[in-house]
Amino acid sequence: MRCPWCGHLEDRVVDSREAQEGLATRRRRECAGCGRRFTTYERIEEILPQVVKKDGRREPFDRKKIVEGVARACQKRPVSAEQVEALVGAVERQLQELGEREIRTAAIGEAVMRGLRALDEVAYVRFASVYRAFRDVAEFMSELEELVRKGPGQAPAPGAAAAPAAPAPPPAKEEP
Ligand SMILES: [Zn+2]
Repeated sequence: MRCPWCGHLEDRVVDSREAQEGLATRRRRECAGCGRRFTTYERIEEILPQVVKKDGRREPFDRKKIVEGVARACQKRPVSAEQVEALVGAVERQLQELGEREIRTAAIGEAVMRGLRALDEVAYVRFASVYRAFRDVAEFMSELEELVRKGPGQAPAPGAAAAPAAPAPPPAKEEP
């Protein structure tokens, strides 16, 4: 750590303790050049990126909001609260792994849609229609047509034989 007094690069840590309720480590350092002391704080870097809204405003990533949006799309669908949580958790991890400081709401929406599409196509269409709003109706309609053409069920894995449609799992029994 460069000494703020003389610019020397070597120092000795003379004290190290937890600070800010465990969110930071405070280190007292003594410069090996001039012997003066200074303090550094080490923090975990904010893990989740800031969300950039359509109008340019920034806000912190709000997991609860996304869970609510997904749960709304899954209403009366055979998707459990655990599956919703798992989906949002997976989206969160994807965002963390990007390592970006900022992310557009649209990118979050796309990630959620990818997850929902694999889970339940009706919920996917509901979510997509809300998320994409009227921004790109044409694209949305073409995806809808694709779904209709493909019929119910998941897209088969490449090379997989056409499997008979699996019976739908029983609907989740939670009441709001
Ligand atoms: Zn110094």
